[in-house]
Amino acid sequence: MTAPVDAPEAPFVTESAPLPGRLAGLALLAQNLAWSWNRDARSLFRAIDETLWARLRHNPIHLLQVVEPTRLEALAGDPVFCARYDRAMQWLSAERSDEHTWYARTFPELRGRTVAYFCAEFGIHNSVPIYSGGLGVLAGDHLKTASDLGVPLVAVGILYRNGYFDQHIRVDGWQEDSDARLDFSSVPITPLPGRDGARHLVTVTTFGRDIHIRVWKMQVGRVPVYLLDSDLEENHPDDRPLLSKLYSGGPAMRLRQEWLLGVGGVRALRALGIEPAAWHANEGHAAFMMVERVRELCVEGVPYTEAVKRVRNGSVFTTHTPVPAGHDHFAVQEVQQCAEGVWNDMGIDAETFLRIGYHPESGAGIYHMTAASVRLSRRINAVSRRHGIVTREMSRSLWRGRPAEQVPVGHVTNGVHLATWMANPVMQLLDEHLGPAWGHSNDPALWEQVLTLDDEQLWFIHQRLKHTLMRLVREEARRAFANGVMESTQLVGAGTLLDPNVLTIGFARRFATYKRANLIFRDVDRLQQLVTNAARPVQIVFAGKAHPADNPGKQVLQSVYHFTRDPRFEGRVAFVEDYGMHLAHLLVQGVDLWMNLPRVPLEASGTSGMKAALNGVPQLSTIDGWWEEGYEGNNGWAIEPEVDDDAGVNTANRLYQLLEQEVVPRFYDRDKNELPRRWLLTMKHAIRVAGQQFTARRMVEQYARAYYAPSILGDSLPDDPPIA
Ligand SMILES: *Cc1c(COP(=O)(O)O)cnc(C)c1O
Repeated sequence: MTAPVDAPEAPFVTESAPLPGRLAGLALLAQNLAWSWNRDARSLFRAIDETLWARLRHNPIHLLQVVEPTRLEALAGDPVFCARYDRAMQWLSAERSDEHTWYARTFPELRGRTVAYFCAEFGIHNSVPIYSGGLGVLAGDHLKTASDLGVPLVAVGILYRNGYFDQHIRVDGWQEDSDARLDFSSVPITPLPGRDGARHLVTVTTFGRDIHIRVWKMQVGRVPVYLLDSDLEENHPDDRPLLSKLYSGGPAMRLRQEWLLGVGGVRALRALGIEPAAWHANEGHAAFMMVERVRELCVEGVPYTEAVKRVRNGSVFTTHTPVPAGHDHFAVQEVQQCAEGVWNDMGIDAETFLRIGYHPESGAGIYHMTAASVRLSRRINAVSRRHGIVTREMSRSLWRGRPAEQVPVGHVTNGVHLATWMANPVMQLLDEHLGPAWGHSNDPALWEQVLTLDDEQLWFIHQRLKHTLMRLVREEARRAFANGVMESTQLVGAGTLLDPNVLTIGFARRFATYKRANLIFRDVDRLQQLVTNAARPVQIVFAGKAHPADNPGKQVLQSVYHFTRDPRFEGRVAFVEDYGMHLAHLLVQGVDLWMNLPRVPLEASGTSGMKAALNGVPQLSTIDGWWEEGYEGNNGWAIEPEVDDDAGVNTANRLYQLLEQEVVPRFYDRDKNELPRRWLLTMKHAIRVAGQQFTARRMVEQYARAYYAPSILGDSLPDDPPIA
């Protein structure tokens, strides 16, 4: 689809010099984010200019804009480069058809029946900053895998012009947040024209004003993503920034965003002529998508109760939070104003309308997005086995207090997109040892063969990835110092003294207090002995953002940051700024041990430990989320739930004990060739378990079989709705 050129509103028109004819397809390749998980495409862009590629944090559009034309001319005459180019282009054109995919083979009768996937954020690639963390990255991995498998998904989200935020840590350790502005010229998005030359595609009325929404399209392999944008001159100045920032502003802003996402998203799909056969709301932020569909049916003359039933039958809802307070909820008066009388369209009164979001535990004054999603979805799931148990218990009141086992909520344990998160050299090693099918297999016998990988090769690859991490951390710090954004007193804490020979622990995640980033500092003397042990030292790399409004989280971050500057730790505790997908890649591939210490049972699933495990980085974690299923005794370490305590005293003691008695000795136990044979075995088990069970392939196959296909086909099982 071509876009109307209405600069300067549409600076997406790239200014790069024309590409040599032989390589003309590079521009096309850069426009579909599938390049980010195709090895040929990735190495193609890297080969253009490795230094530039790293500095631009792997943004191919930007790369093609700034690379010297003479360089491209030279590459056009390079047979190795051209062969790789041809392979990547062939693959891209094969991506246009879904004929030979898993989904086409498994559900031939469902071809062409679209599934709409709504989420408030999508983490596809670092160069498209419209995500904040785990939920978005999971949604991104879901889309990539749907593309790989040929699941006919279309995604709907929001184009945050100011993204989440860029993080900078002050000398005193306090996090400063600045807008991460979307650079339209280097993001692969295209605006879709509205009717009669209008910029907006759809309009949503809320709080007494019409809000016109422009829709941008982004292509993720076979999956189109439609992103909503309210920043148009046609809109009231107060409404223009409504969709510009992710998870910011107060509840009033959030409510408007969610209304626009749900209602605007459905209308956008209709305007584009897309008629989904099933609808998936990833987290309660998207609940209004179902409300809008009820309204549509009622307008067509379907009675309200029947409309609710039909919407339920076609809807899937995935919940991600194990605590009621973590779920979005709004004051009913606000929702009533926001919804602008849609109940009239539905032929019901306001009270009946508001009951969709009624949660018995929150009371009548609150509109609860999870309750609304539950009422309007027939198929509901949590994101790990353990989270399923917690969710059924937590949702009992929505089914009149029936026993938890009878609450109709299932679980699909999260998984991660293998080709996105596993490092190239690890994939090459598996290519050599497991044959061509390993990337598409959940077969335990195949993954068992990981245990026979060559120790020396695996260790060599791991060492290389570790060196890469430390080199890039040093370069980043050097650049920040040179640019004056980092002071000299901060350099050591930024990781410039990290030593590739030392056992390196990674801890990177959102600084929410329940994740307990500072737990390892509970006994500073004991930790100091571990870290500065002359023969068997340990170093720790931290990264992660605290939500801008989360002051307790920022305080935890600050306390961790102080330790990076504490001379007792001799430069062995580092904090690397601006955690995002780029840094996440480096860390999960380049540290030795992944540490995760959530307060049980507050981690619904967690996914970063899966990413680490795919790279042979074992996890040490409390038994929560996916680790309750993933820990097999030989693929990492676990802090037992009965040890975990509110105060964290026992948890910390157990952590030290595991590090002192198991992790450190195993890592430093070397044979005559300097190989840590026992550690390598743990690494292999980590790869085996994650590769077999915790990929997004397994996850999306489960969604397709147990959620999408039955929603589309309409099974004959009795419905089991919650209280009305
Ligand atoms: C994977 C990922 C997360 C989620 O990690 P958790 O284990 O759930 O904490 C968050 N942020 C980024 C950038 C990620 O890549």
